[in-house]
Amino acid sequence: MNSSNVLEIFKEITRIPRESGHEEMMGEYLRSFAEKRNLECRIDKVGNVCIVKETSPGKENVPTLVLQGHQDMVCEKSKGVDHDFLKDPVNYVVEDSWMVAKDTTLGADDGIGVAAMLALLDSDLPMGRIECVFTVSEETGMDGAFGMEKGFFTGKTLINLDSEDEGQMFIGCAGGLDTTARFSYGSEDLAPGHAPVRLEIGGAVGGHSGDDIDKGRANTIQLMARFLFSELPFGVQLIMLKGGNKPNAIARECEAIIAVPDRKATIARFNSSAGDVRGEYVRTEPGMTFSASEYRCTEKPIETPVAVNLVQALFACPHGVESMSRDIPGLVETSTNLASVNMRRQGVIEVVTSQRSAITSARRMMAAKVEACFLLAGAEVEHTSEYPGWKPDVDSRILKICVESYRKLFGFDPEVKAIHAGLECGLFGEKFGGLDMISFGPTLRGVHAPGERLDLNSLDKFTDHLVDVVTSFK
Ligand SMILES: [Zn+2]
Repeated sequence: MNSSNVLEIFKEITRIPRESGHEEMMGEYLRSFAEKRNLECRIDKVGNVCIVKETSPGKENVPTLVLQGHQDMVCEKSKGVDHDFLKDPVNYVVEDSWMVAKDTTLGADDGIGVAAMLALLDSDLPMGRIECVFTVSEETGMDGAFGMEKGFFTGKTLINLDSEDEGQMFIGCAGGLDTTARFSYGSEDLAPGHAPVRLEIGGAVGGHSGDDIDKGRANTIQLMARFLFSELPFGVQLIMLKGGNKPNAIARECEAIIAVPDRKATIARFNSSAGDVRGEYVRTEPGMTFSASEYRCTEKPIETPVAVNLVQALFACPHGVESMSRDIPGLVETSTNLASVNMRRQGVIEVVTSQRSAITSARRMMAAKVEACFLLAGAEVEHTSEYPGWKPDVDSRILKICVESYRKLFGFDPEVKAIHAGLECGLFGEKFGGLDMISFGPTLRGVHAPGERLDLNSLDKFTDHLVDVVTSFK
């Protein structure tokens, strides 16, 4: 088995629609793939698929090895592109040894992991019993891994094929949860002599609230809260506040409409503080923009006691890295993201934050600290969407096998890392218990966005490594 077997299967997979939540055609493809080869195939009620290939002669004493990836893909396309992800095949080109989808996502995350498993199932390599597990809806909350029942696979060693950097072995990931604060408010009249001003901070780099939380990027909600806090002594009234978007993204823009006694003075102070902030972020935020202008609106301000509490809580709320790993240098262990603020419905302002850590107690401590901050300000606080992490085990047996195999093939050691983001491994570890796990894959760039690409040279190395690990596992 070599990388062209994997690539041929991946090209087939690019023709199968498989947006998260719509994996039916993919499930059918997997079922018929197994049927044609007389392999046992199980499908559970959420749509996860497990295909089993029994032991090759002479490998009877090798323990079962689980391989795992996800069926679904993130479906994003460039503005103006006519593409129906529910029926159209992905268009791709091969350029300079990269396979690229120019106008859409490619789906190599995780179609290439799926293709690698199918190539193994199709091969006649000498190996022990393998269970290939294909989950659904990883990209929209890991519903497949959440819904999987105990006993769906039986092996105690698992290789996850959903990583994006060839030459890196992942042995841990963060778990997470969201913490939402809600402020109820009434409105008040515009104070005599007050007039509205619109403030906007935008163009920040943003990024992933796990992978990018240690990159020193600006959080535009924090910056807006900082300015509003400095305006409180001038009798500012808050009419509207909105910033950030998804819980797992660093806020890239924030907008506020306020009413102030002296618009020119407020705008001058905003511009001067914008100059300070630009200076602080000159290296990481070259495109950040600030604007303040006189505004007209008829909406009434939020009652001032609530507005003051909100501004103080947003300014005090922790954001960023709380602690670094003591096992793996450079790895963020615990962090929190002040993700969004929104007036979703009349009379309620909602602040969404999200916390991450590979260690459950540390993750809950972080969430409680954010909760304390908003309780002080009189908000109601709720924790939701918790998922477990995967604590790195530097003494893992499968890690040792993978590192030795890599060194034998390529003459140097792979990097051993953990990620400060979620992987399905966290859920498997919690659900099945006692699993020895690792995650690796070929190099992908720009995943989850149009232009996603797969490095074909890295696919050669990844395939050789995978084959060697699977055939030498004992
Ligand atoms: Zn993935």
